[in-house]
Amino acid sequence: APAPVTVTVTGAAGQIGYALLFRIASGAMLGPDVRVKLNLLEIPQAAQAAEGTLLELQDCAFPLLAGMEVFEDPVKAFDGANIAMLVGARPRGPGMERADLLKANGGIFSVQGQAINAGAAADFKAVVVGNPANTNALIAAAHARDVPASRFTAMTRLDHDRAVAQLAAKTGAPVSAISNLAIWGNHSASQYPDITHATVSGQPATELVDQGWIADEFIPRVAKRGAEIIAVRGGSSAASAANAAIEHMRLWVQGTPAGDWTSMAVPSDGSYGVPAGIVSSFPVTTSGGDYTIVPDLAISEFSRARIDASVAELLAERDAVAELGLF
Ligand code: NDP
Repeated sequence: APAPVTVTVTGAAGQIGYALLFRIASGAMLGPDVRVKLNLLEIPQAAQAAEGTLLELQDCAFPLLAGMEVFEDPVKAFDGANIAMLVGARPRGPGMERADLLKANGGIFSVQGQAINAGAAADFKAVVVGNPANTNALIAAAHARDVPASRFTAMTRLDHDRAVAQLAAKTGAPVSAISNLAIWGNHSASQYPDITHATVSGQPATELVDQGWIADEFIPRVAKRGAEIIAVRGGSSAASAANAAIEHMRLWVQGTPAGDWTSMAVPSDGSYGVPAGIVSSFPVTTSGGDYTIVPDLAISEFSRARIDASVAELLAERDAVAELGLF
């Protein structure tokens, strides 16, 4: 049998980690024939809780789970890693300024980037979930000099899935009838969920909904869905975030279906006027473990303004971490 795929999960004892690990071990991410080894990275205060999760993983007797271990040392946790799910991040505490948040997370992601550089596998792929996800990916990539920056991506698949679900609810179509929806920009309130290329059962989505709904209801609802979940559920959206992280990586490894794409925040190659280097969300197709930004889409004036606004926020984050010497 082929060697198991080593998947390193950071923040493994957190809420998203708890919703993520069991599904990776069950084969939901890499397929029903691929064995996985789980490396769980945690900070010392949470390592014991991660050990507890290992006991539960053991009790599931997953046939595909070939090994599992908890680490506090990033160098050991990323040694031989094929895939990294970078979930752990420092949440914004009371009175914390944005610069403090960027600094705290910059410290985490620069150290992890160095550890990845030291020992990750040649086919290494990372998705950053922990916020500010796009900029954390930028920092990690900058500290992993020998790993192509293209291997560091950030998750906007949850925004993508939320947008698909909202469009399905509005049009009365099943989610499976919707394709070619795209998220652009930052995983933040400035993101742009774009339905100008989307179809519902083959019909252009823009023929089924009006511009007022798109601008005043759809876009803000998708962008603020996290806060809506917290308000209603009394806790953050951990399970749907974990599901989206699985989908992000599953599609990257296994390929997007013909005629559709996914949304991923990836280092820009300058496409669509997004400055090269910053990690911004685009529609991408994937095949053979590589991704390609979908070329030559027509961008409406409305879309242009929304993309530019989100990209401006990403540039400000990049400049802030550059000032802090993290990039
Ligand atoms: P969660 O598991 O709920 O969230 C983890 C990160 O994912 C946060 O940065 C969060 O951002 C982000 N996130 C992205 N999308 C979503 C979404 N839709 N819903 C909720 N969160 C989202 O946090 P916990 O506090 O439960 O767990 C974090 C764990 O990480 C802890 O166990 C901690 O010990 C660990 N940690 C590990 C580190 C390491 O391995 N080196 C470093 C730092 C922390 P947001 O804050 O904006 O909600």
